[in-house]
Amino acid sequence: MKVVSIIPLIQQLGRRAFINQKVSQVRHCSLLGCNLQDNRANLHPLWKGEIDVPGGSRQSPINIRIRDSVFHPQLAPVHTQYDPNTCLHIWNNGYSFFVEFDDSTDKSIVSGGPLENPFRLKQFHFHWGRNNDWGSEHTVDSRVFPAELHLVHWNCSKYRTFEEAIMEPNGLAVIGVFLKIGKQHEKLQKLVDILPSVRYKDALTEFNYFDASCLLPSCVDYWTYSGSLTTPPLTESVTWIIMKKPIEVDHSQLAVFRSLLFTAVGEEEKYMVDNFRPLQPIMNRTVHSSFEPALQISHKKKSEEHRQQAG
Ligand SMILES: [Zn+2]
Repeated sequence: MKVVSIIPLIQQLGRRAFINQKVSQVRHCSLLGCNLQDNRANLHPLWKGEIDVPGGSRQSPINIRIRDSVFHPQLAPVHTQYDPNTCLHIWNNGYSFFVEFDDSTDKSIVSGGPLENPFRLKQFHFHWGRNNDWGSEHTVDSRVFPAELHLVHWNCSKYRTFEEAIMEPNGLAVIGVFLKIGKQHEKLQKLVDILPSVRYKDALTEFNYFDASCLLPSCVDYWTYSGSLTTPPLTESVTWIIMKKPIEVDHSQLAVFRSLLFTAVGEEEKYMVDNFRPLQPIMNRTVHSSFEPALQISHKKKSEEHRQQAG
């Protein structure tokens, strides 16, 4: 086991070593850009070595097949209540940049939807590609987006700390938001403007008063399923909430993401791009939707029309 394989989350976790865990590459996918993914061990040390996927039956990310998702009428909208004052700093962890929050109180929480109780916001980060053809971790009917935002929350009713929750069942709730190219995202620009200050791995800078809810789409529809972290230790502790509608950012904003580096000062520069995990098999899981799929609605309408015509 190469300890080098475990990087960013280990840095966050601190107290636990996952030295006994091994990672195995689960599958190849048919997406564009997968040749890059197959070589990801060369791309980033995070994916070097063999790491076990514990259990291995509910790994993330996945391709969401709209036709196979099941509408769950009891799924209420997810409610976020974020206090911009809890925003602390931004740091380059060598795989993405993390915007981290004070999670010692319930000031920034998510509740509702599939969640039994409030979860506290710990951090958010993004995954993105080297160009606009790929970059998201999840896909929808095999559609890939240029980037994906993850807002990471932990179950403060069940666990005492984020570090504990990350390893346990029902420990985390992650909201995923797709980014697509369109008009400039004005609120995101505050974040984009500060990114050059965390260009190198391990750089950290103060970043205050940011309301992460500005990064959510106005449409409340989402899919939800049980999955895992998409970086080591890959623990299957995550309730995923994937927003149906993407948010828009412009090309120049993503270009700044791509100007960050995986590498530290003094190392050979490697641009921070393609920092996503390949798709994982859905196995015996159901993706639930909070909304009635359009196909079913149009089918229902047609049946009603037929009935009316017949009547
Ligand atoms: Zn992520």
